[in-house]
Amino acid sequence: MVRTFAAAGTGVQEMIRVWFIVALLAGSGLVFAAVPVTGRVQAMQFSRSPIEDVAAISYQHELKRLSALGELDTDKQTLSRVRNICSRLIAQAILLKPEAAQWPWEVHITSDSQVAAYSMAGGKLMVGTHFIDSYNLNDNELAVAIAHEIGHVIAEHVREQVSLAASFESKFPNRTIHVVDVINSMESDIAVFFRLQPLSRLQEMEADDIGIELTARAGIYPRAVVSFYAKIARSDGGQSILDTHGPSTQRVSFVKSMADYAKPIYTASHTTNVPAYVFVAHSH
Ligand SMILES: [Zn+2]
Repeated sequence: MVRTFAAAGTGVQEMIRVWFIVALLAGSGLVFAAVPVTGRVQAMQFSRSPIEDVAAISYQHELKRLSALGELDTDKQTLSRVRNICSRLIAQAILLKPEAAQWPWEVHITSDSQVAAYSMAGGKLMVGTHFIDSYNLNDNELAVAIAHEIGHVIAEHVREQVSLAASFESKFPNRTIHVVDVINSMESDIAVFFRLQPLSRLQEMEADDIGIELTARAGIYPRAVVSFYAKIARSDGGQSILDTHGPSTQRVSFVKSMADYAKPIYTASHTTNVPAYVFVAHSH
C-alpha cells in the first residue's frame, strides 16, 4: 500500500493550507523518469519536493496523533527489529536509486490495528505491530512487506499518481493547474479514484518486483517472498472493489516466478559486503 497524501485524521482543509504553502505551478512541461529495476518510463508533471513536503507534514501529523493515543513506538524491541531490517533494505534501495541517499528516510511502528504497513513519498515508513503479530511474520517475511513499501518509495509512485491525476483536469487556455486542485480531486472525486486504478494496480505489481530485487540483494532468502504472500493470500479470501493490490492468489503465482528470478541475485549477495543505511535523527 502506498499512502498518497493525507494520513488518517488529517483534515482536507489543513492539507489544502499545506498545499498552498508548498504549491508548485504546473505547466512547465513533463519530466520523464525511469523506474529502478523495471525501467518503466514515467511522466512526471510535478517536481519531487512539493510531494515530499506534503508527505513529511502528513507523516508528522500522524506521528503526533499516534503518540497522543499511546500507539507509537511503544514496543522498543520490535522497533529496533523493524529498523534493522529497513536499514539493510534502504541501503540496497540507495544503490538502485542514488539520489535516495538524500531523502528523509524515517521508520516508526504503531500498535494501531488498522495499520499493516505503508509508505509515503521521500521514505516515510510505518509498520503495524498487530500486522506482524497476526501473521506471525519472521524477519525475512517482514523484510518482504517492508521492501514492497520501499519499492513504492524509490519508484516515486505518489509523484506519478499526482502527475497522472493532473492530466485529468480540464484544460483551458491560460488556465494553470495547481497541485492543490489535483490533490482535492484525488481526495474527493470517486471518478478520479477509478481512473487512477489501472496505474495503481501496475504500481502494486511493480512494488512487488522492486521489493523482491531489494530483498535478494540484501541477502534475504527469496523463499520468504512466497511464504509471506501465501500467508496474506490465505487470510485474504476475496477482493474488495477498493483493493488496489489485486487478488492475492494471482500475486502468489507472480511472486513464485519472481522468487526464481531472485535466486541468483540472492546467491550473489553472499559474495558482496551488504551495507546498512544509518538513519538520521529527526526531531519531532
Ligand atoms: Zn503497495
